[in-house]
Amino acid sequence: MILDRSTLLVVTCVLTFAVGCLFVLSWSQARDTRALATWGLAHLVASAGSGLIALRGVVPDALSIGLANVLILSAYGLLWSGLRLFEGRPALPVAALAGGAAWIVLCLVPSFYASLSARIVVASCLVTLYCALAAREVWRGRDEALVSRYPALALIATCGIVYAVRVPIAILTVPAPGNDLLESPWVVAVCFVSMLFTVGIAFTLITLTKERAEHVQRRAAETDPLTGLLNRRALTERSAAILAHRSRPACLLVFDLDHFKRVNDTYGHEVGDGVLVGFATLARGLLPPEAVLGRLGGEEFACLLPDRSLDEAAAAAGRVRLAMAEIARAQLPGLALGVSVGVAQRPRGRAIGFSALMREADAALYRAKGAGRNRVELARSRPAAAA
Ligand code: GH3
Ligand code: MG
Ligand code: MG
Repeated sequence: MILDRSTLLVVTCVLTFAVGCLFVLSWSQARDTRALATWGLAHLVASAGSGLIALRGVVPDALSIGLANVLILSAYGLLWSGLRLFEGRPALPVAALAGGAAWIVLCLVPSFYASLSARIVVASCLVTLYCALAAREVWRGRDEALVSRYPALALIATCGIVYAVRVPIAILTVPAPGNDLLESPWVVAVCFVSMLFTVGIAFTLITLTKERAEHVQRRAAETDPLTGLLNRRALTERSAAILAHRSRPACLLVFDLDHFKRVNDTYGHEVGDGVLVGFATLARGLLPPEAVLGRLGGEEFACLLPDRSLDEAAAAAGRVRLAMAEIARAQLPGLALGVSVGVAQRPRGRAIGFSALMREADAALYRAKGAGRNRVELARSRPAAAA
């Protein structure tokens, strides 16, 4: 099968241009995602670069060798730069364009400019470097569980490896007749790699962006906007998931700030909000990391504590109560701001769902309020903890 090299280059150019437009279109709908604009620019620049290579012999060499490679190297730099933006790091535009700048300087050296092998070696090394930097960015962000991260990493790494392999081959093989790139068998391979890479990377980067947007939306739908804790729905869902494992014992703690209305009435709603945020921070810091803590609404909070006995849960509740009362005494004197807590246990093996456990803990909380507030009460008539 004979593949016409000029046709392949034109197809690469058109395809890369179309992908660039797709990125720009995606960016126009999510303007704060600057990475999309950068990737769009990278593809448009690469498209112009491959267009100029396709025109070798038709346009002056300064354009089809000099400028074409500047554009292609800059495109790889911009791909890396976009990934940095995606990961919340500075774009480093100077570093992204430094490969292209280095190319211009080298082209001023006549012996370099005249040697196809030397040009292939330098261009391939620079592309490999940018691919390695881009792969490093994707890898560094792996704590953010986005599934498309791994296909993106594989694609960028493969592209980098293909260009790296090109270096020893260019050194060891005889240059194409007339030192002409279009006569080199590499053009076919590079066009195929570029086309597959362009389509693959467009698909994975756009999916990556969408995945992140979905994560952000899901997190917002689960979070109480004031305190940053889980909201009632998320708390209920996560607790129910834990309680579904009958083999795991669990305790539910329900907190209600005492006389909270007085804070609003005396200091205003903003100070009241500050107290709610302060309580959330305090509880998050004092409760074990595996505790599922959320705001039920108003000045009521709840926490499902898996794998703990009732006594351990009561002790944890007592620590939060004591710390809150101490801070409130110092910061808001005279308001008797404390916290009442009801604690209920779902023993191992018993089929008690979240709603039933909540009713038990609520009943205990009600008793804590009735018994004078600022105390911990255990469900099922256990004596009040001496917290
Ligand atoms: P008790 O000891 O019986 O629990 O008394 P309380 O004052 O804590 O409870 P009450 O139910 O009488 O009042 C709760 C107050 O919490 C009333 C409401 O205005 C206030 N509140 C609810 N949500 C918020 C909020 O997001 N921010 C602020 N600042 N206040 C809130
Ligand atoms: Mg209340
Ligand atoms: Mg209250």
